[in-house]
Amino acid sequence: MKVEKDPSCRDDFDPKSLSADAALEQVISGVDRVKGIEKIAIRDALNRILAEEIQSGINVPSGTNSAMDGYAVNSADIPSGGTAALDVLGTAWAGKPFNGNLTPGNCVRIMTGAIMPDGADTVIIQEDVQVNDSGITIDASTRKGDNVRQAGEDIAVGDLVLSRGRRLNPADIGLIASLGIAEVCVVRRLRVAFFSTGDELRSIGEPLGNGAIYDSNRYTLYGMLEKMGADIIDMGVIKDDLDALEEAFSIAAANADVLITSGGVSVGEADYIKEILAKLGKVDFWKVAIKPGRPLAFGHVGDAVFFGLPGNPVSVMVTFYEFVQPALRKMTGEDDTGILTLKARCDSRLKKRPGRVEYQRGILQSDEDGNLVVAKTGAQGSGILRSMSQANCFIILPIESGGVEPGTVVDIQPFSGLV
Ligand code: AMP
Ligand code: MG
Repeated sequence: MKVEKDPSCRDDFDPKSLSADAALEQVISGVDRVKGIEKIAIRDALNRILAEEIQSGINVPSGTNSAMDGYAVNSADIPSGGTAALDVLGTAWAGKPFNGNLTPGNCVRIMTGAIMPDGADTVIIQEDVQVNDSGITIDASTRKGDNVRQAGEDIAVGDLVLSRGRRLNPADIGLIASLGIAEVCVVRRLRVAFFSTGDELRSIGEPLGNGAIYDSNRYTLYGMLEKMGADIIDMGVIKDDLDALEEAFSIAAANADVLITSGGVSVGEADYIKEILAKLGKVDFWKVAIKPGRPLAFGHVGDAVFFGLPGNPVSVMVTFYEFVQPALRKMTGEDDTGILTLKARCDSRLKKRPGRVEYQRGILQSDEDGNLVVAKTGAQGSGILRSMSQANCFIILPIESGGVEPGTVVDIQPFSGLV
């Protein structure tokens, strides 16, 4: 007779586990874009998701101008060999143009950013010119059109500059300002409620009794959500108590687009929360073949999207970045939802058994030849939050891989491309 072993977190291979890819697919297809946009000043739009297309109403630069300090000439006056002498008619400054025509045999002293005088098509940089009492002497080294920025060369009238779904970065804000646009339409912020569950948890300021720990998950969640630009509803610590939990779920579902809990979804605890969620929502409890972060619940409570993350602090962060963040990005219509993955040489020996994808915590650097190298942060337990604090990347070890010897090339996800 075949005896089915009760899977615990110590087993790395569990045939009932969902693959990370399948879990992500279900999460993504289980959430919809939110409705609602707002028009805000561009300074306030940093890190928000653009809800309109930005088209240029002007040419940038608005006029043809000089890219260098030098002399504006007509290319017909540039000799094909030897030198030529030109008279200087005046000066064109940035913001103060030369009001006149450039006539043959002459030039205009011109500064960077100054509008090109009528009749000039080329700028000879001052380093290539000999200045004398009556004017300048030029040689044949400059080509027609050199050192000139054409009107509309950066952006032409009518160009699509930024698309819907763009998360606006500092360069984007500057770009929008360069078009003279003061306000933009962005997607409204997502309202995300969260609470921690567990009788052992204490809030900061409370004394730590025997076996008690401070709740850290609400703080990492706060940080990760704040960075994404969400509107945060922090509901505190909820005891492992049926009535208290049910009330918290109801309040969150009525007030938020998304509810995130941590703790209480692992084997032995889930029944409690399962019972409430069966009544209030439609939630699946998954064992995902990843480490850390195997137990995960996903579904809906009322109209809110629900994520039940595991309790261990590193598991919370891994499951947030791998499943919650992509879902929140889809909900706001953000176009770029991929996670940058690179290859690096691993200088540590990593322990692993086949059966789960592992997200180990690494420190990415470049060696003296400029190659990417990664080392592990130390102990990799799912409760060791220091490993996340010290790390600057995840080292991703695929499901089928065993341990890794130093010198092996591994996949990494830099936090800078992730968070
Ligand atoms: P659970 O998923 O509830 O079984 O919790 C797994 C582990 O994570 C336990 O050791 C908990 O004490 C710990 N844990 C749960 N919630 C938190 C939290 N909010 N902050 C820090 N540790 C937690
Ligand atoms: Mg618990």
